[in-house]
Amino acid sequence: MQVFKFGGASVKDASSIKNIKSILSRYTADSLVVVVSAMGKTTNALEKVVNAHFNNDDNATQLLNEVKLFHDEIIANLFPVNHPVIIEVNNFFVEAEWMLEEKPRSYNFLYDQIVSIGELVSTKIISQYLLLQQMDNTWIDARGIILTDNNYRNANIDWLQTETIIVETVTSQLKKKNIVITQGFIGGTSENYTTTLGREGSDYTAAIIAYCMKADSVTIWKDVPGVLNADPRFFDDTQKLEQISYLDAIEMTYYGATVIHPKTIKPLENRGIPLYVKSFLQPEGAGTIIGKDLNTKPFVPNLIVKTNQVLISISATDFSFIAEDNLSAIFNIFATQGIKINLMQNSAISFSVCLDNDAIALPALLDALKQHFKVRYNDNLTLYTIRHYNQFTLDSLLKGKTLILEQRSRNTAQIITRPN
Ligand code: ASP
Ligand code: MG
Repeated sequence: MQVFKFGGASVKDASSIKNIKSILSRYTADSLVVVVSAMGKTTNALEKVVNAHFNNDDNATQLLNEVKLFHDEIIANLFPVNHPVIIEVNNFFVEAEWMLEEKPRSYNFLYDQIVSIGELVSTKIISQYLLLQQMDNTWIDARGIILTDNNYRNANIDWLQTETIIVETVTSQLKKKNIVITQGFIGGTSENYTTTLGREGSDYTAAIIAYCMKADSVTIWKDVPGVLNADPRFFDDTQKLEQISYLDAIEMTYYGATVIHPKTIKPLENRGIPLYVKSFLQPEGAGTIIGKDLNTKPFVPNLIVKTNQVLISISATDFSFIAEDNLSAIFNIFATQGIKINLMQNSAISFSVCLDNDAIALPALLDALKQHFKVRYNDNLTLYTIRHYNQFTLDSLLKGKTLILEQRSRNTAQIITRPN
């Protein structure tokens, strides 16, 4: 069996849903688990509903209604009037409206209960549309098979329970109908509350299901022909990579390549399941394959750009060395504040860390550090990570920029720059 994942851009309107049907009809002989994200920019729109309600703005209901109207219009384009999907979809929105009548118990909890509607609704629409087109399938509620703790907005998978229940449920459903449709990004707690796995987490859901089912492969359908060696938003002559090793893929996604969610690779690597990235606009194309020891040789330099970076430099207040005791105190602060470090470097008396300039996390971190250390920082920086770098690539990246910090290993170079 295979796992397919369709992201928001591939289900953004009625015609893209028809396109999904045509892609699936190329695989009628296979057993498929199809993982789908929320339609288009629905997750962003639902985040606005959450923020409005949390801040006591009275337009939360209005914002939710706009999301509903967006889906109603897609439904009107795909289904006859009075089709049961209308009521099913409406029920999800009614549940969200109830949440908006109550005082939120916490931001993250509210977020997951509301934002998850996007995936529930998109999968209902797709499942019902396929049925209408005589493509038999079973809709499964991911909250009953992806079991998590209650770390809302970034829930952790309970692997033992999830594996048992996925094997049981999905296997038996696939025996009856060879397509299962389920939601990416969402899970459920033992108390039946909804959780989410972190933004863009649908790829991760596909990998979790593939791992549990020991799938033959996972395919992520995107609006690009495969994985490119650089982000086309930043660079002109990008190149598609035919194949990538798990190792390169996990390094690239960790440093910010947004083409695949970083958590996707580990479960697949652990069970040796290949990952294809293909274009939903050109489904017959070969795409990119990610797997064990697969490399495109000679190595093509892969570029990952992270803008809006800050470089914090931390030193002791009394000119003492930054040694083990200070480092462990610093790391402790980072861990407690839940900060992800993009690059670090130390000298005798200072420790430098590059991280994302997050409007909420950064000030909190600086406050905590300043209680024990001297802290200076530079903002508006860009971090380039170049896997399989060469001197030519480094030189061309540095043109017109000031180099703030550089680090190289055999395979990876990282430079932090500022525009001149
Ligand atoms: N809909 C969610 C998001 O936009 C999950 C995903 O697309 O993977 O973050
Ligand atoms: Mg998305």
